[in-house]
Amino acid sequence: EAAISIQGLSKIYKGGKQALTDVTLDVPRGSMFGLLGPNGAGKSTLINILAGMVVKTAGKASIWGFDIDEHPRNAKASIGIVPQEILFDPFFTPFEMLEIYGGLYGVPKAKRQSMELLRKVHLEDKANAYARTLSGGMKRRLLVAKALVHNPPVLVLDEPTAGVDIQLRQQLWEYVRELNALGTTVVLTTHYLEEAEELCDRIAIINHGQVIANKPTHELLQMA
Ligand code: ADP
Ligand code: ADP
Repeated sequence: EAAISIQGLSKIYKGGKQALTDVTLDVPRGSMFGLLGPNGAGKSTLINILAGMVVKTAGKASIWGFDIDEHPRNAKASIGIVPQEILFDPFFTPFEMLEIYGGLYGVPKAKRQSMELLRKVHLEDKANAYARTLSGGMKRRLLVAKALVHNPPVLVLDEPTAGVDIQLRQQLWEYVRELNALGTTVVLTTHYLEEAEELCDRIAIINHGQVIANKPTHELLQMA
């Protein structure tokens, strides 16, 4: 069974903008999957539907076997989302933030693994520093740790390296690779072919709300 399964998904926003048209795709378990497309293609809309933040117009989607309509709580528990924008209270420490989010997700105190998570993203030295003192790269890594607080099998990163310099981009790629190697299914959206090529074992190309290709990376590159 797929990590994420999407069938005939469409979205028309109020006002009439059709952001997705009959999107069908499966993300295999364990894969590093790239959703590649230009700005406005519909990538965020797709992610937001999976996250339960945007209501679809038609179609079906499931996460780790849980239909997002029939089993929304299980579906939500199976996915962690790393959003594009960095939004958190600058006066909490990374450790405090992970404890707070663990609570929000209903992870019992004894089962929280805040320090382990910080170690996973190489932020253990900053566990007790104010978030406002973290660099941009550290903040992004903290967002990754936060998305993993409830130990979901699927991690989705929305444009993880948008507006990030080349050095930091390489660093973020390394963390994402490590997480995938440890067993997390990873989906990332990007408008950089280079990024999808470098990281992903499978790439779906989305344009004007439609999937126009969906292939293993090496096959896709042969077509280019
Ligand atoms: P992205 O950075 O994913 O390309 P945009 O910068 O186009 O997204 O928009 C950011 C957010 O603003 C979107 O995720 C969406 O929620 C909202 N948005 C985008 N376009 C519109 C629109 N035409 N009307 C209302 N909200 C919009
Ligand atoms: P991407 O993430 O690939 O940049 P989006 O999913 O953000 O694309 O946007 C797809 C299309 O839907 C764009 O034309 C965008 O302007 C539009 N859109 C996004 N969010 C909204 C919204 N809340 N209301 C209306 N239109 C939106």
